[in-house]
Amino acid sequence: MSRILIVEDERKIARFLELELKHEGYEVETAGDGRTGLDLALNHAPDLLVLDLMLPELSGIEVCRRLRHESDVPIIMLTAKDDVSDKVMGLDMGADDYMTKPFAIEELLARIRVALRKPREQAAAPAEEDAKLSAGKLVLDPASYAVRYGEEPVTLTKKEFDLLRYLMENRGKAVTRDELLNNVWGYEYAGDTNVVDVYIRYLRHKIDERFGIHTIQTIRGVGYLFSL
Ligand code: CA
Repeated sequence: MSRILIVEDERKIARFLELELKHEGYEVETAGDGRTGLDLALNHAPDLLVLDLMLPELSGIEVCRRLRHESDVPIIMLTAKDDVSDKVMGLDMGADDYMTKPFAIEELLARIRVALRKPREQAAAPAEEDAKLSAGKLVLDPASYAVRYGEEPVTLTKKEFDLLRYLMENRGKAVTRDELLNNVWGYEYAGDTNVVDVYIRYLRHKIDERFGIHTIQTIRGVGYLFSL
């Protein structure tokens, strides 16, 4: 049976989650601060983390960031704030999913089941897909995680890179936000799709605005289209 680590400083929530998850048949461990949570995550190798964002000692973002150096355990973040930048930061630090408090326990249970089922990203990528992609002077090299425009290097975060890669692989074809979420973020997504729009803005800022080109078009009512 899968083992779940709950890292949450609000006792009532932690206790509630522990009881619900045990009731579902999971083995459960809890930690009340970020440092203890990170220690347990590293030493007890749970199958999944439910990680609160606002924690004493070490924030959830920081736990996520440090844990990702060592482990690709699925992480579902809990956030009290309905703030897109927090979610984006958490996802960028390697969280797999997030839930905004207050949430329905059924929804969390569903997302836990999805996260436990999901094959890890690295294992899923076949080697022959590592060919370079180019459009005009823009070149993306999956093998080295590098992007260039002519001679100029473009520095992207992992998610920006993955998003650009997906768009370039589907060059000339309109892709929906849901398709981008499923393929780039890689989880079944039930909430808002703002995350995609935020990352499209980042890419436009780093590529289109910087080099005075127009690579990513908005297709109203559909999503986005990469063309160059
Ligand atoms: Ca908290």
